[in-house]
Amino acid sequence: MTFQEFLSGTPAGDYIFQKGPYEKQIQSAVSMLKEAESVLIGAGAGLSAAAGLVYSGKRFTDNFPEFIEKYGMTDMYSAGFYPFPSEEARWGYWSKHVYVNRIAVEALGLYKKLYEIIKEKDYFVLTTNADHQFYKAGFDHDRIFATQGDYGYIQCRYGCHKKVYDDVELMKKMNQAREDCLIPSGMVPVCPVCGGPMTMNLRCDQYFVEDDAWHKAEAGFGMFLKECEKKKTVLFELGVGFNTPIIIRFPFEKLMQRHRNMRLIRLNLDEAAVPASLGKRAVGINADIARSVEDIAEGACAG
Ligand SMILES: [Zn+2]
Repeated sequence: MTFQEFLSGTPAGDYIFQKGPYEKQIQSAVSMLKEAESVLIGAGAGLSAAAGLVYSGKRFTDNFPEFIEKYGMTDMYSAGFYPFPSEEARWGYWSKHVYVNRIAVEALGLYKKLYEIIKEKDYFVLTTNADHQFYKAGFDHDRIFATQGDYGYIQCRYGCHKKVYDDVELMKKMNQAREDCLIPSGMVPVCPVCGGPMTMNLRCDQYFVEDDAWHKAEAGFGMFLKECEKKKTVLFELGVGFNTPIIIRFPFEKLMQRHRNMRLIRLNLDEAAVPASLGKRAVGINADIARSVEDIAEGACAG
């Protein structure tokens, strides 16, 4: 199955919130993982939020006071869509965003705990998160498909050529040089091919650049999926809500309907509903993901 075929998943449409108790659900998840020959992790924004990369509230107001005062921004998610008046202003914001979410952050405990759970398994990670946490936490770089991009790369605004550029050093410099939310004009990146503006390598329109590394990861994902069809596989979904359900959530449900050898563990703070038709093959744990992962790790790593 290719990534495109995977994406054609449709929801089963018979969601239920499974009844607890919580401890019994954790036990089910632990059993599924112990029996699994392969684990496909599907991770969304809720995982990074639970790990500490919260885009609103105190973490936002502590890090972005000058942006709040100047633009009236309310959180990091909506700030990314702000109609900045100039390139200096746009990169002024993004350099701060990238710095606090990608550069200044080490591997977070929740990601490291997750790695402890699956490191002995045959695993693969499909994630919509751009914060690079899977790479930092020890996961094999050849087993990660960050399909929506990564804060560590920039690209031509109009995708005139299929290449992305490491931005970490540039962002550090911008972060230091910023004044009144603006970076110096001389630091504004320019496309080396067409001379036009550049942008973050984040999927937000048809110009998102899928470079060689992206295609390699996509191919790796496809091969892993193919093998999963023959093995006892757990689809381990963490923090995938209804913001972009077509990338992980719905495709996972379709895989579950097609393949009886698969099990689904869905961890979510408040959207862990699962299709009733999957019965005991699915466990949806509606709770703080950090707590659930901790409890699963305790059971799964206990031998
Ligand atoms: Zn260009």
